[in-house]
Amino acid sequence: MPEGHTLHRLAGALDHAFAGTTPTVTSPQGRFADGAALLTGRPLESAEAYGKHLFVRFAGDAVLNVHLGLIGSFDVLPYADPAGPPAPVGAVRVRLVNDSAYADLRGATTVQLVTPAEMAATIARLGPDPLRAGTAGNEPERSLARLARTTRPVAECLMDQTIIAGVGNLYRCEVLFRHRVDPFVPGAKVKKRTWLTIWDDLIELMRLGVAFGQILTLQDQVIEAKTILGERDPTAYDPGWAGLMPGERGDFVRGRTGGHFPRDFAVYQRDGLPCLVCGSRIRTRVLAGRNLFWCGRCQRRH
Ligand SMILES: [Zn+2]
Repeated sequence: MPEGHTLHRLAGALDHAFAGTTPTVTSPQGRFADGAALLTGRPLESAEAYGKHLFVRFAGDAVLNVHLGLIGSFDVLPYADPAGPPAPVGAVRVRLVNDSAYADLRGATTVQLVTPAEMAATIARLGPDPLRAGTAGNEPERSLARLARTTRPVAECLMDQTIIAGVGNLYRCEVLFRHRVDPFVPGAKVKKRTWLTIWDDLIELMRLGVAFGQILTLQDQVIEAKTILGERDPTAYDPGWAGLMPGERGDFVRGRTGGHFPRDFAVYQRDGLPCLVCGSRIRTRVLAGRNLFWCGRCQRRH
């Protein structure tokens, strides 16, 4: 399932390709024909992400709200053929086309037109988003308050979008391991300092995820990624195009997995293999509907 960094990267790509233009909006597959008819011919103002939600604002207070769900994808691509972009392949629910780019949305669970007020209401139901840290409503204290009211395990709370927005299974497994946190400690028993450490780390990890289009959690990859980004000031991060790798600035990206680094993790899908730190076997079990992976020996912190 796409995690928050994918949505923020996608928002940046859509914003870069379409903001300030008036794309033609269609529904080649037909299931969004009415919405497309309403949006086509309107200037596209901006695209932004909050957690796993994407919001594309059009003139006249129309907002396209997308949630990719488990298998959705939204590909943003350039084209140069004066005859137009290539014909849609597969079940394209929504297609945006301007004179230099096209974007195809497939397989999303939510595709709807909302008003700015409805968009604000959706955001208000979500917990703070680490990729929006530093903006109003995205203080970690807000998630701490919700955490303090639950006895559910912290690994489940990290997947609860009303507690913290944008974190998916991979980030939850890896960030808990990085800080040696017991995944089963009840939310209310998580120390404030532990949660703030997790929050701060997620800000950094997810920003790298946006920049590289892939989840990086192994410390040597994290260090290399930060070096590549030139030690840029993380507080200067703009959740749009400015967060991308320097080489990609001005290019189009697919909003999908990048390939700069090998896809390696410390615990995710490493069940049965030795822990990279202590050598004991990585364990797995379903929690919050997804497979949790952890090291029972290393992860004891509350
Ligand atoms: Zn271990």
